[in-house]
Amino acid sequence: MGLEQINTLMEVFTAEDPMPFMHPEGDPWKDFREVMRLEWKMDFTYKHVLGKYSKFFIELANKKFVTTECPGCGKVWGIPRPVCADCLTITKWKELPGTGTLVGYSVSQFVPAFMKVEIPYVLSVVKLDGADTPFTHQLRNYGDSTDNIKVGMPVKVAYTEEKVDHPLLLMYFEPA
Ligand SMILES: [Zn+2]
Repeated sequence: MGLEQINTLMEVFTAEDPMPFMHPEGDPWKDFREVMRLEWKMDFTYKHVLGKYSKFFIELANKKFVTTECPGCGKVWGIPRPVCADCLTITKWKELPGTGTLVGYSVSQFVPAFMKVEIPYVLSVVKLDGADTPFTHQLRNYGDSTDNIKVGMPVKVAYTEEKVDHPLLLMYFEPA
């Protein structure tokens, strides 16, 4: 963890004077601002806690879809909630089969570059079997055209095999 090595000295340069208007006769701190830029390789392992949602992401890595059920009113939340939003009871984890029905979707032709996903990006709203509220996530593998996507079609949770940048990307929906 941490610093592996500092390699070669890459360059010596003078950082810009942030207040040139204060020094019309020239930068009095020019020598002080001379710095050396190094190449610095680092390798970090994060031990990251996603609070009460951690189990959801851990189980996604195990290819299981879990959510929460309220022992007070019996509601099963599609998106897990540590506390029932209806009756404020602390919920319990429950595994769902991962099958469901597409109840809505949106097709985006533009997504921010950091998302690293192909376009069109289809955001789907799915009513999972066994859940009372919908779950929203990307729909993939719908064929060569978004015209193939129909509200009411059966879908299922699929799990990513490749490495992902965020644990939420461990899953997506696809036609069942
Ligand atoms: Zn409840």
